[in-house]
Amino acid sequence: MNGEPDLYIGGSWRHAGDGATRDIINPADGSLAARVDEATPHDARDAVTAARRVFDDGSWAATPVAERAALLDRVADLLVRDREELSLLETRDTGKTLAESRIDMDDITSVFRYYARLIAVQADRLVDVGDPSIISRVVREPVGVCVLIAPWNYPLLQMSWKVAPALAAGCTMVVKPSEVTPLSTIAFTRLLEEAGVPAGVVNLVQGSGATLGNALTDTAEVDFISFTGGVATGRTIAQVAAKHVTKVALELGGKNPHLVFADIGTAAGWDSAVDHVLTGVFLHSGQVCSAGTRLIIEESIADDFVADLAARAAKIRVGDGMDPASETGPLVSEQHRGKVESYVALGISEGATLVCGGARPSDPVLAKGSYYLPTIFDRCDRSMRIVTEETFGPILTVERFTDESEAIRLGNDTQYGLAAGVRTSDAGRGERVVRALRHGTVWLNDFGYYTAAAEWGGFGKSGNGRELGPTGLAEYQETKHIWHNVAPQKAGWFKG
Ligand code: NAD
Repeated sequence: MNGEPDLYIGGSWRHAGDGATRDIINPADGSLAARVDEATPHDARDAVTAARRVFDDGSWAATPVAERAALLDRVADLLVRDREELSLLETRDTGKTLAESRIDMDDITSVFRYYARLIAVQADRLVDVGDPSIISRVVREPVGVCVLIAPWNYPLLQMSWKVAPALAAGCTMVVKPSEVTPLSTIAFTRLLEEAGVPAGVVNLVQGSGATLGNALTDTAEVDFISFTGGVATGRTIAQVAAKHVTKVALELGGKNPHLVFADIGTAAGWDSAVDHVLTGVFLHSGQVCSAGTRLIIEESIADDFVADLAARAAKIRVGDGMDPASETGPLVSEQHRGKVESYVALGISEGATLVCGGARPSDPVLAKGSYYLPTIFDRCDRSMRIVTEETFGPILTVERFTDESEAIRLGNDTQYGLAAGVRTSDAGRGERVVRALRHGTVWLNDFGYYTAAAEWGGFGKSGNGRELGPTGLAEYQETKHIWHNVAPQKAGWFKG
């Protein structure tokens, strides 16, 4: 970063093989946030080979579990120490508010602590085969060399969901952050080195996915690819990986419904629902895979609810994430703002009713950044692309229903299935609806929360595999059944 080497391969820091660099832009004001090395495919292949060599020498996988757990805890301690520095980098790189970046860092710390605890207690499973001379047990072993690819919206958070369980399991890995937001991952890799991660266990390359992708994925040296990003990229990776029958986990996009029933009840229930719908979609300017971008609301309350939402949305303070007064920051780049603007134009041409936003902020102070106002479209339906496609910006669409079955049908009428929210004061209805929704996470009378101990992932085109929780560790492990006969006899099948 800024002259220091940024590629970490086989325990050494180095510049890109061809000396290329990339300018990282601060989306809050268009300034240069940092200049980083841009890896070549050759660098990426070196990183894979280093990870393979270290995995194959067996020492890391053989490290006692207690030592690996202690290492994860040391990483967590350093994350606490460097919380502010990492948060500042994340905000400068992504534009998200500093308050959000600090929450990210706390969550990352808890992921490392969680997997330190989980690996320490994971036990082999004994299987009773009904014969006292047979010891049958199922053990877990590291899956091997992992390629970990992350997106730009939660750069270090998404990467930590992969690195922590991979380290816990005893894997070696190549880490590739998004080329748009590599800064926190570079700093984090230095932190891993300081914590004592052995050379070659974690290798870092950053650069364009299109350029590095094949070097990282089109190889028999890799055992597992864990990818978080868009559907199109996930599909490409799965196709390339299939050539080598490489295991793949995909955490992809979402177009997440938030179902609001008329029985939300008291004034407090109403205010809470408005607040959660608002936060669920406009936090981080909508650049959240699980953002509640589709409000699906009971017809009888829709007009009043949308009016309240619009009034609140218009008051959201959009600004530089470094300013404590800002409630949400800019979009990640000019290019991404262009995409969001084209979706707004599409929504208008498709006949949706623009209720608020639909423009850049007029404040001249924000003119140099990639800001966009919280935007609501009412009177939407499933024929509109604005309702079916992930815009990844601050855009809420509103659809209306008249009964519970229609609400469920609309909530499930999506190619995705990452997350959904339900608001009702009727507990019975709440339980019925959450069970009927085909989404990986469903919040009932809440929205957006997760914990390191519970699985995260999607149904449908939101991907396959799970992160976090026990399954998030199992992804990085192979199971092996060991059948041990302590009193061998003849097999006795062939008589001759
Ligand atoms: P993206 O697919 O453009 O890029 C993601 C990563 O893949 C980047 O590091 C990129 O460099 C890399 N990449 C690109 N082409 C590649 C290739 N051919 N081979 C290997 N790697 C390649 O996604 P993005 O725009 O960075 O992120 C936004 C997307 O991520 C949204 O769709 C969002 O919903 C999704 N996302 C999902 C989750 C989840 O938990 N399901 C979480 C965060 C973001």
